[in-house]
Amino acid sequence: MKPILEVERVRKTFGGVVANNDITLEVPEGKIVGLIGPNGSGKTTLFNSIVGYHVIDGGSVRFDGREISELRVPRIARRGLLRTFQQTRIYGKMTCLENMLISVPQRDQTWLSILRKPPAADESKAEDLLEFVGLYAKRRLLAGELSFGQQKLLEFGMALMNEPRMLLLDEPTAGINPTLINGLMHRLRRVNEELAITLFVIEHNMSVIMSLAEYIYCLAHGELLAQGRPDEIQADQRVIDAYLGAH
Ligand code: ADP
Ligand code: MG
Repeated sequence: MKPILEVERVRKTFGGVVANNDITLEVPEGKIVGLIGPNGSGKTTLFNSIVGYHVIDGGSVRFDGREISELRVPRIARRGLLRTFQQTRIYGKMTCLENMLISVPQRDQTWLSILRKPPAADESKAEDLLEFVGLYAKRRLLAGELSFGQQKLLEFGMALMNEPRMLLLDEPTAGINPTLINGLMHRLRRVNEELAITLFVIEHNMSVIMSLAEYIYCLAHGELLAQGRPDEIQADQRVIDAYLGAH
């Protein structure tokens, strides 16, 4: 299976802290791959390094066979690789539909002019994607009135407006009511299967990631500690120790 993302010996330091130490991993096209590890193990930093938010101190990142480690966030996004955040980034005083419309890649016009007169094609795409994430009925509501879980779904829909080939999701279930987690997982699987978007998912909820991902990487102290299928990772004593040691 051809990798869509290849991370090779990526290193990122903050002052004296080595957040990512020579991380090498790959994500095959079309799959759902997990990234786990105790708090502070370097997961978010790795996502930020991949999408061009950080300038890395060493190593390389290739997306679809092309080097991207010299590029910054907007250019990488235009190539189809996007991340969502641990904290949602929506505009609470705008409607769900407006949030979706300001998420399309910027053209010549400013976002204000998009809001005044959104291109019809964008509006219908936004409505289709709101339907896809289960928020169509709420499209005219202010985003600030949504529950936290619904805001995450909106943020997810906003990322889909960019028509990504691959999404990096940083703790998609964090803070979500447990009764809504199954629904979110169902939507993630649909995005992967029906929209053919490759997913690389940081997740602290073990039962979620074990059932969602086909393959899992585990970080500890900024290093790649283990990798394997979910059953292999669950049985890996190094992974168990890393989690126990973190508490
Ligand atoms: P995780 O997402 O696995 O919890 P992070 O990638 O957020 O871990 O953090 C890894 C390490 O890097 C931690 O020690 C954290 O304090 C440090 N770190 C992360 N981002 C920054 C930053 N912008 N400046 C300084 N240190 C950072
Ligand atoms: Mg994190």
